[in-house]
Amino acid sequence: MKHKCSCHCKSVEFEIESDLENIRQCNCSICIRRNAKMVIIAKENFKLLKGEDHLSLYQFNTNVAKHFFCKKCGIYTHHNTRSDETKMGVNLGCIDEIDPFSFEAARVDGKKLTYTK
Ligand SMILES: [Zn+2]
Repeated sequence: MKHKCSCHCKSVEFEIESDLENIRQCNCSICIRRNAKMVIIAKENFKLLKGEDHLSLYQFNTNVAKHFFCKKCGIYTHHNTRSDETKMGVNLGCIDEIDPFSFEAARVDGKKLTYTK
């Protein structure tokens, strides 16, 4: 199923194809701070519709994962994972017309993975 997604100020809009089954919440150093439920999707199921110039990239540690956020409103939109480069995570809260409270997130112990190279 296709879902329209956006950051808060709507500068960034994208579309994902997902059954919204693979929902996760992670406790690594960055995820614990942004505290978002994420849906994990295959990279090819992500399509940026607008706002490429509003996306800012944040990287740290091994600089493999790519964390994107809107530089106007500061909202985390999506990231490319370090553990599997065919996958990416999308902020569940950015998906229009769903209630993130109604989704259970599996907990990922990313804290352990953060400092391993
Ligand atoms: Zn924004």
